[in-house]
Amino acid sequence: MAHAFRLGDLLQPLCQVIHIPRPCLVCGQRAWRYGVCQMCLCELAQQRQQGRRCERCWVQLPVIGGCRDCSARPLDVEQVFVAWDYLDAAELLIQAYKARQQQWLAAVMANAVYQQIVRQWPERPEQILLLSVPSSRAALIRRGFNPAAEIAKLVAKQLRQPYLVGGLYSVSAQITETQKQRSRQQRLKATAPAWQCATLPADSTVLVVDDVLTTGSTLQHAAQLCRLAGAYRVYAALVARTPWRDHF
Ligand SMILES: [Zn+2]
Ligand SMILES: [Zn+2]
Repeated sequence: MAHAFRLGDLLQPLCQVIHIPRPCLVCGQRAWRYGVCQMCLCELAQQRQQGRRCERCWVQLPVIGGCRDCSARPLDVEQVFVAWDYLDAAELLIQAYKARQQQWLAAVMANAVYQQIVRQWPERPEQILLLSVPSSRAALIRRGFNPAAEIAKLVAKQLRQPYLVGGLYSVSAQITETQKQRSRQQRLKATAPAWQCATLPADSTVLVVDDVLTTGSTLQHAAQLCRLAGAYRVYAALVARTPWRDHF
């Protein structure tokens, strides 16, 4: 998708380096450290939809009953940690990060993910190996970076745990834009992305990092590969969750 040239997009990384204030990417008010003002960061942390969540896929549950997706085919993870709902400001920031190559936003997102992990997972194992969901070759060429990997590296640093570079890797480019519109079942039936996972330490606990969780098919594939590669426990951390929509 083509995006209009924005002067601000060029200035943001510069401001990041020389530490001068710039307009908040969300509201336009003055922002310092992250390029997003404190008020917007607080609102992002609080904007999540209220109500019960599925522990495995973080979808908002109906008033009565459990997660329909996970009761039919549960995500093969112990637990997911999700910072934001994919709405409003979160959607804007993730779009800027991925589609407008605002790579500096990785720090904003990694910090939000880290805070969520600390909140939801206070008693963590001593050793956790972080991996990121790979980008297709086409996406890597288009963006020049893997959005999930940049976030995973920073989360690993904050958690003081190792990030396995190239732990999950793509062997061909098969993720297409149309996959985003398919349901989890449809996507699972479709050709799974041709990824591989490096051999992992036996009985290891891994944390797979990705940007957005929509149907869960990408995460499912990643988690299953990690288990086949030796992981004993697989957790997942994501920047945002697409809220309950008609795919559910
Ligand atoms: Zn703001
Ligand atoms: Zn679920």
